[in-house]
Amino acid sequence: MPPFVRALLRLAVPTSLLAQAPAPPEPSRAIDWEKLRGETAQALADYMKINTANPPGNEIEGALFLKGILEREGFEVQILDTAASVLGPRRPNLYTRLKGSGAKKAIALVHHIDVVPADTRYWTVDPYGGVIKDGYVYGRGALDMKGEGIAHLMAMIALKRSGVPLTRDILYIANSDEELGSTGAIALVEHHPELLRDVEFLITEGGNNPIVDGKLQYYGVSVAEKRTFWQRLTVHGVPSHGSRPTKHNPVPKLVRALNKLGSYETPLHVTPGVEKYFRDISRSYTGEQRAWLANIRRAVTIPRARQWLQSDVYWNAILRNTISLTVLQGSNKTNVIPAEATADVDIRLLPDQNPDSVLGVLTRLVNDTSVHWRTLLAPKTPLENPVNTDLFSAIERASRDRDPDALVTTYMLTAATDRPTYRRLGIITYGLSPFKVDAADNQRGVHGNDERVSVENVAFGVKYVYDILRYAQ
Ligand SMILES: [Zn+2]
Repeated sequence: MPPFVRALLRLAVPTSLLAQAPAPPEPSRAIDWEKLRGETAQALADYMKINTANPPGNEIEGALFLKGILEREGFEVQILDTAASVLGPRRPNLYTRLKGSGAKKAIALVHHIDVVPADTRYWTVDPYGGVIKDGYVYGRGALDMKGEGIAHLMAMIALKRSGVPLTRDILYIANSDEELGSTGAIALVEHHPELLRDVEFLITEGGNNPIVDGKLQYYGVSVAEKRTFWQRLTVHGVPSHGSRPTKHNPVPKLVRALNKLGSYETPLHVTPGVEKYFRDISRSYTGEQRAWLANIRRAVTIPRARQWLQSDVYWNAILRNTISLTVLQGSNKTNVIPAEATADVDIRLLPDQNPDSVLGVLTRLVNDTSVHWRTLLAPKTPLENPVNTDLFSAIERASRDRDPDALVTTYMLTAATDRPTYRRLGIITYGLSPFKVDAADNQRGVHGNDERVSVENVAFGVKYVYDILRYAQ
C-alpha cells in the first residue's frame, strides 16, 4: 500500500481517544520481562500437566496449583466450593484480588480451569505432558483457555511485583465446568454476588486476533456472542418388521421435518457490533467489496453481495440465526421399524433474537403436529456490550502500541462462553485474546488436536494484558 494511502487510512482512525489518554500509572520497580517469559511458559506447561478434562473436570488440582503460585506472590486466595451441591466435590472456583485505591471500579480476569477431553490417538505429543518444543507450549488448554488464564495470572503478578499504583482492584477468577454446564460461573454469581459487586469490567475468552499468511488481520474484541438454543425433535410410531412398510414408521416423518429445517434459509440480520466489525474491516478491502462491507445493512439486500458474504462460514454465522442438523437416532437394526425417531438440532441465535418467536417460525415451517419439539439447551442472557468504555479504549491503545496500523474491532463469537452469566450482574464483559494466533492453529487446536501456543505469544500476552490493565486505570 502506498504510504500516502496508509496515511489517509490512519486519519480515518479515531485518534481522539489516543490524544486525550492520560499518562498510565508506571511501575516503581523494574520488571525483568525476559525472566517473566520463562516463568510464564513454565507455569503454563505445569498447568497443562494437570488433567482437568471435563468430564470429570477435577478442577481442584488446577485451583490448588494456581493458589500455590498466587500465595507465593503474597495474594490471599479463596477456593470456593459453592458449586459442590451441583457438581460434587473437587470442582471449585478460585478467587483472589489485587487491591487498588478503589477510586474506580474493579476489573475481573476470568478463565475456566476445565478443558475438553483430548483424544491422544490424534496428538503427536502427550496432551497432558506440558511439552515445550520448537518454541511452542503444547497441551490441552493452550488456547482454550489455560494459556489465557496464565497470561492473566502473570500480568497481575507483574503489576504487583512492580508496584504499579492502581485505581481499580484487579480480580482473578478461575471457574470450573465451563465446557459442559457453566455451573462454576453460575454458582459464583448466585452464591457470591458480594465478591463481584464492585466489578465494572470483565475480561475472558471469546476474542480473536487472527494471523492469516503471516499477517495480523485485526484485534477482535468480542462484545457479543451467539446463543445456543438446542432442540430435540421426536416422532413416535409403531414398531414393526422392516419387511412390511407401514404409515406408522416415525423415521420418514422425521426426515421430512429435517429436510425442511436443513434447507431453510434463515433471514440475514445485522446487529450493531457486527455492523461495526464489517465497517472496520472494510478498510482492508477495495472496490465494491469495500463498499459492501462499509454498508452491510445495504449489502444484505444486494443478491451478489449476499452470496459473497454467505460464502464465508464465519460471516454467514454472525449475520443470521443458524441451524445445524447434528444428532440422528432411528432404529438400531436394519429390519426393525422403531417406536421412535429423534434428531438433535444445534440452533444458534443472534443476541437480539426472541427464542419463542424463532421456535414459532420453525414449528410452522415443519408444520407437522406429530413432530414434538423439546428445548435441550435454553439460551443464556443476551450478550451485547457497549464499546465506548475506558476498557475498550485501553485495549485499542495497547493494541496500537504493538501494531500501529492494526484494526481493533468488535468480534462476535459464534460459540458460547460464561460471559452471559456475569453480564446478568450488569458487568461489561469482553472476550479478549491475549495472543495473536495463526488461524490454522486455532482451527486445528481448539477442541481439536496438537493444541499449542508459542512461547513468544505467551510473553506477548502477559505484557499486553499488563498494559491494558494499566491503561484502564
Ligand atoms: Zn473455553
